[in-house]
Amino acid sequence: MKKLIAGNWKMNGSLAANEALVKAMLSSLGGVGTAADMALCAPAPYLAQLQTLLQGSPIVWGAQDVSAHEQGAYTGEVSAAMLRDFACRYVIVGHSERRQYHGETDALVAAKAQRALALGITPIVCVGETLAEREADQTEAVVKRQLAAVIHAVAHCTSEIVVAYEPVWAIGTGKTATPEMAQHVHAVLRAQLAAATQHPERVHILYGGSMNAVNAASLLAQPDIDGGLIGGASLKAADFLQIVVSAR
Ligand code: PEP
Repeated sequence: MKKLIAGNWKMNGSLAANEALVKAMLSSLGGVGTAADMALCAPAPYLAQLQTLLQGSPIVWGAQDVSAHEQGAYTGEVSAAMLRDFACRYVIVGHSERRQYHGETDALVAAKAQRALALGITPIVCVGETLAEREADQTEAVVKRQLAAVIHAVAHCTSEIVVAYEPVWAIGTGKTATPEMAQHVHAVLRAQLAAATQHPERVHILYGGSMNAVNAASLLAQPDIDGGLIGGASLKAADFLQIVVSAR
């Protein structure tokens, strides 16, 4: 299975900056080839721009959140059907920043994943423990609880999701889980998927949390690390592409 390197721009960018970044990526893709599958997840207002810039290229695009509701009186929300109108291939759900700052519960994240799948959009389901939870030896229990909610909701579609293990203490902090620490959690998640789907090996389990051009190779060499969810480093064309090359 090819690895998947997905960028999460978070709330960064502008029309001008996005165009420069994407054009820089596309112009250097020759040297990268198709070492890995690539995706960029942008703020919703820029999805139309990404569609224009990336259509026909090897890079697909996606969103960073989706409503759990189908349509209607939900001011400010963006539906899965709207994401599909802009040909989104992926949507991130349950990013720790949404769980932390927007009070998203396991049940809400599961409903969002379900809504995305219903519209043919692959949810990138984020799970991960806080520093306090790791120190209390709760890492496995937390990630299993978070993933279990999604498995319960999407049931026979479990093999169609992407999982991203993102230890909260490693996101945007420059602190990365060691390859061994990450591999251990990925193996736990793989075993959990194996109980829910016949083909757990087909589910990409990405690592996210300060992955960069320097540490990517050793993380991506682990047997159960099938790619990366890249925040900060996805805002620099050369760094993002170096991570893609590391996925070979
Ligand atoms: C993320 O936002 O999903 C992420 C992993 O961020 P960073 O790479 O900046 O730690």
